[in-house]
Amino acid sequence: MIVIGAGVIGCACAYELAAAGARVSVFDVRAIGQGASQASAGVLAPYIEGHETSALRELGRRSLDLYDAFIERLTARSERVLHYTRGGTLEVALDGMHATRLRDSAEALRRDHVVARWLEPVELRRAEPLAAAGALGGLLIEMHGFVAVPDLTNALSAAAMQNGAQFALETRVLSIAPEPNGTLIVETDHGPSRAADVVFAAGSWAGQVHISGVDPTPVRPVRGQLLHLAWPTGQSLRHVLWGTDCYIVPWSNGRVLVGATVEEAGFDERSTAGGVRDLLAAGCALVPDLRDASFIEVRVGLRPASPDDLPVVGRSGVIPGLVYATGHYRNGVLLAPLTAALVRNLIIDDGEDDALDVLSPSRLGRL
Ligand SMILES: Cc1cc2nc3c(=O)[nH]c(=O)nc-3n(C[C@H](O)[C@H](O)[C@H](O)COP(=O)(O)OP(=O)(O)OC[C@H]3O[C@@H](n4cnc5c(N)ncnc54)[C@H](O)[C@@H]3O)c2cc1C
Repeated sequence: MIVIGAGVIGCACAYELAAAGARVSVFDVRAIGQGASQASAGVLAPYIEGHETSALRELGRRSLDLYDAFIERLTARSERVLHYTRGGTLEVALDGMHATRLRDSAEALRRDHVVARWLEPVELRRAEPLAAAGALGGLLIEMHGFVAVPDLTNALSAAAMQNGAQFALETRVLSIAPEPNGTLIVETDHGPSRAADVVFAAGSWAGQVHISGVDPTPVRPVRGQLLHLAWPTGQSLRHVLWGTDCYIVPWSNGRVLVGATVEEAGFDERSTAGGVRDLLAAGCALVPDLRDASFIEVRVGLRPASPDDLPVVGRSGVIPGLVYATGHYRNGVLLAPLTAALVRNLIIDDGEDDALDVLSPSRLGRL
């Protein structure tokens, strides 16, 4: 079978399919993990404010529940070390309105049986001494975490290769078409390939691949910029911090990530002075000591967004061998284990799952 796209979603699908015994070829026009995934902060947080739709929360919760076992199995199989922690997120209120919203969220989450705790200012300072001194409190959600995404895509692709998957990089897929016998022909700039099943995980660029008989995939790019800073020695955050205008992730090797812009900029993958300025200002408001951090780089990625912000995962209603796995927008890393499990079950066992009703490509047109 063919997987189109070697981002976190394509790599996770290739990994699960190869582990289930399938012969997998992965095509990508770039190197592994060099689309949106390389810019991702890797935060695993279904209950953060702003991720409100209940369907997305439920999918995120299911995927987060898979994460520990997914990482354990992947680490064993790939023999790679992955930076993965479940140290929680702390959403910090810098003004009264935000504090009220977060207190209400804490109550609502508790009613949904999510362990979430409102911290008064004194408790907040004890939990996270580097948070702004004037903060009015914070919402701690301990089940949340993060994973270093380059580690993750490298481990997924390495484990897939150990199970026989082949990666054809610098290979652009131009079109997909069914042949009369049901086999799919995938036309690339290096010639055609055939497969009974094709997993279409081309992220933001999915709409650029011509697929016979179906509508263009309705996914648009939403640009995100993410800063990589480094603390002077000895300083570190204990949690992922979240504010109204940015989040801050204490990544490995003393790196701190400050993200992320959300911009409708088409396929423009440039970083901008305005994006960097806004993130620096928001980051320093949340953690004033960030002023002493050194500036390492800014990463830019195009998040694949569908019209209803939900992923597009499942069999095409028109071309049975075609399985969509795109549109993960702001949650592709969080949703990778669930997406890969759904795709594996669908292709290997023809398995049904309620999530596939919500994510069905057909909800968005003739797909
Ligand atoms: C700044 C930023 C921060 C983020 N933070 C988080 C976070 O904290 N948590 C979280 O869960 N998510 C986060 N996300 C979202 C997450 O990164 C994406 O949802 C995820 O990376 C999407 O993965 P993907 O594999 O679908 O897409 P991509 O990583 O973009 O991969 C698609 C691949 O398909 C290839 N491709 C496209 N067209 C073709 C073609 N015609 N032929 C061959 N190859 C093709 C591309 O080269 C690319 O490698 C963030 C995103 C950004 C930009």
